[in-house]
Amino acid sequence: MSKVKNRGDCALCKNKNIELMQSHIIPKAIYKRTKAYENSRFREFYEPKNIYQDGEKKPMLCHDCEEFFSKYETKFSNLFLDKYLKNPADELPEISNDIEFYILTVAWRILYDDLYIYGSFINNIERKSFEEYEQKLWRYIYGRYIKENGQESSYDMKTDGKCFGELIAQIEEQKNIKSLEEMSEVSSYIYTLGQLGFTESVTKLFDSMIFGYSFYDDSHTKYYIISGYKGLIISTVYHKKGSLLWKVFNSKANIKENIINEVNYIIEDMRQKYPVVQTKLNENGLRDKIKKRYEDKI
Ligand SMILES: [Zn+2]
Repeated sequence: MSKVKNRGDCALCKNKNIELMQSHIIPKAIYKRTKAYENSRFREFYEPKNIYQDGEKKPMLCHDCEEFFSKYETKFSNLFLDKYLKNPADELPEISNDIEFYILTVAWRILYDDLYIYGSFINNIERKSFEEYEQKLWRYIYGRYIKENGQESSYDMKTDGKCFGELIAQIEEQKNIKSLEEMSEVSSYIYTLGQLGFTESVTKLFDSMIFGYSFYDDSHTKYYIISGYKGLIISTVYHKKGSLLWKVFNSKANIKENIINEVNYIIEDMRQKYPVVQTKLNENGLRDKIKKRYEDKI
């Protein structure tokens, strides 16, 4: 199959009409560690005929931005994920600044994909808050990107045809982006399913699954990006300080409860759709095909 090169605007550095890589929303390192066999392929749970060779990919980032993210993915794999996988029952490894940054980069990719590729929350009043959230994460991540990569970034640095005032405004904007975004309304959490009170069988059920999406809570004050893989549930929460009961509902216990409820929702949703998925597996001999692929591997 020939590789089609995609050109477009990079979601992170905003360079226009640039070659875009096939970016993983959830990093490739996670898919690699989730595969049961070397020739395993990923399928959509609700649409099992949809296959992803080594995980879902989208043209989203240019080469440089992809490299920037992959640096943090490697740190996460080496300093957190592999340590945790060695002894999943132990306490989780330390969440250093780099690990937290990795979590934010994945959260941003999930939210960007949700909002601008899937078009989630269209005609929903909460979309505005999610867009704000995406911009906040973007400014923070992009700020770090230009800090680490010097000032070569050419985002909106085209000067031709601009008057003096516009140029000043442009320099100011660049300066603002360089000072890191204020992030006190955003916090990240990482739990094992066990820490959330789920049983071994739930952990087993989730073991071969990888997911990521966004949702908001019943009070419409907290916006969550949630992802799950290898028995871990990771969530980044945006809670706007403006809301009256910020302190009350921003407690860790309250956020943990929301995350537990969401996992329960996923389990219930899978349970309800299970018969339909089974029917789909029986269509066109799909179940046999899958069985055949792995039968000599057991
Ligand atoms: Zn880029």
